Amino acid sequence: MSLREKPPFVIAVDGPAASGKGTIATGLGEAFDLPVLDTGLLYRCVGVLMQKAGEDLDDQAAAACAAALLTADQLDDPALRTREAGEAASRVAVHPRVRGALMDFQRTFAEQDGGSVLDGRDIGTVIAPDAPAKLFVTARPEVRAERRWKQLFAQGEAVSYEDVLADIRRRDARDGGRDAAPMKPAADAVLLDTSEMTIDHAADAARRIVEAARAKWISST
Ligand code: C5P
Repeated sequence: MSLREKPPFVIAVDGPAASGKGTIATGLGEAFDLPVLDTGLLYRCVGVLMQKAGEDLDDQAAAACAAALLTADQLDDPALRTREAGEAASRVAVHPRVRGALMDFQRTFAEQDGGSVLDGRDIGTVIAPDAPAKLFVTARPEVRAERRWKQLFAQGEAVSYEDVLADIRRRDARDGGRDAAPMKPAADAVLLDTSEMTIDHAADAARRIVEAARAKWISST
């Protein structure tokens, strides 16, 4: 099979909040010259739209409507990067109808010619189960909480480390425990624990893993 006939080279990067997966996905996009989609932004956007409209985040029908109306130009809003938006995202993400409404957008992005990088929670398991390169990026909750706390501080959000750690633990439990597309490594994902790594070191390790997957993908028939 020639490279032209092959399905697109999709890189799936999953993992919990503040594991480093976003930075890693961006680095992989640059290294392999592929477009990147941060799928967490889709859920964040649905959560923020619901809050702005005064809707209850547990209302699946209303959240599914917001998800169905979402457009790519709404994803640049800095308000999506806040701590509150992350919490709202994780609450609307439990609804199967919200996940279903966001599926086409993600699959269309994944399947574009040339390939793509997507980061999220269920990319390797649900959105792109045939992706030739899959990573599950993780780190200890305390390490992730420190990273997220520094990031929020830099954005001007004054919050204690303890509160950020509690957020991370609550989100891990909700994202991993939900029935619809729970966060978990795909059976064929390579695990990358970044707890003891600098972000440059983690990005290098991820690039090497993907280079190996790409070589295998190129040589496969
Ligand atoms: O990655 P990020 O922290 O921005 O994701 C926000 C929330 O969106 C996650 O905690 C998770 O509940 C949800 N999410 C998801 N599936 C994805 C991406 C994000 O359920 N593919």
